[in-house]
Amino acid sequence: MAGRSAAAALTIHGYPPTAITTPWPNPCPMRAAVLREYGEPLEITERPDPEAATDGAVVAVEACGICRSDWHAWQGHGEWADDQVPLNYVLGHEPAGRVIEVGEDVERFAVGDRVVVPFSLGCGACGECRTGHGNTCTDGLALGFERDVPGAFADQVAVPSVDHNLQRIPDGVSFRDVAAVGCRYMTAFHALAHRADVGGGDWVAVHGCGGVGLSAVQIADALGTRPIAVDVNSEALARAESVGASATVDASKADPVEAIQELTDGGAAVSVDALGRAETARNSVRCLRQRGTHVQVGLTTDAEQGEISLPTDWMTRWEINWLGSRGMPPARFGELLSMVEDGSLAPGKLVGREVSLGEVSERLAAMTNYETEGVELLTF
Ligand SMILES: [Zn+2]
Ligand SMILES: [Zn+2]
Repeated sequence: MAGRSAAAALTIHGYPPTAITTPWPNPCPMRAAVLREYGEPLEITERPDPEAATDGAVVAVEACGICRSDWHAWQGHGEWADDQVPLNYVLGHEPAGRVIEVGEDVERFAVGDRVVVPFSLGCGACGECRTGHGNTCTDGLALGFERDVPGAFADQVAVPSVDHNLQRIPDGVSFRDVAAVGCRYMTAFHALAHRADVGGGDWVAVHGCGGVGLSAVQIADALGTRPIAVDVNSEALARAESVGASATVDASKADPVEAIQELTDGGAAVSVDALGRAETARNSVRCLRQRGTHVQVGLTTDAEQGEISLPTDWMTRWEINWLGSRGMPPARFGELLSMVEDGSLAPGKLVGREVSLGEVSERLAAMTNYETEGVELLTF
């Protein structure tokens, strides 16, 4: 905030300073990037402003990550699990912004609050949510993937059950950093810190150094472990090295399982498949030491359609743990944001490009051939 006046800091693209508690009339109609046909360019169009539910809020989007999950949805993937996104829909599940309207039952948030919206939204009322596991709420909704919760490739996004779901952004953390946290950081953080419960000094292999993989490398380093980054792309490996990888393995040149077994003198303690292909999932399991823990973070492609065969006898023999991990419970967000605030984690370092709403399509298309640059953000 240094160098910006208080008014400038509080008035973000036409929305009001925090002192105003009633919704501000929107000076121009809301724009959104709408999915008309799978795999075709998104259409930038005007949409009615969203309204806050009684327990919900409307957030003016300041930044939103563009993610491989958006690419999957854009391509129409998901039919094998019956969860294809609807057409005429707005994608975008990694927003950070400012609250511009709250419902009458909302207690914890007010107009003007700077917030991040976790994509895995809980109902806020069930046992899972009340015990801090909102990401596994059976009534939960995935922002930007399900009909009831259109996403944030738009000027504004509506969020339900905000007292449970929204998380405040610490003062020292920018919208850009939080959007870069996106689902990749929260997913990687939950996978390593909560699910695998990594310990200091552990070798942690990370297969696939796209957004979530690079985040996992940086988080593994910040948590005191020794990350090994695996990818077939030398630029991705260089980026992994720059964010804390202790070692890298180019899987186009060496067998990653053998390379990791050798580097670690017997195998990694924890390994993450951040890509979701049969080959990376099997490599991730196979590179573990006895009693090691595999965490599946990547969702599969058309080739696997949600199922991968694994060396189960070998896993049984060596007591390998296999864990699924998805998103992060909203209740645990503070742990991650405090590490961003104190500088232990620098998600902004992963940002390779910032684009406008009209350029989102082009960046989704670039993902088809893995031609993106680190984390890419929509910013306003
Ligand atoms: Zn719930
Ligand atoms: Zn994402």
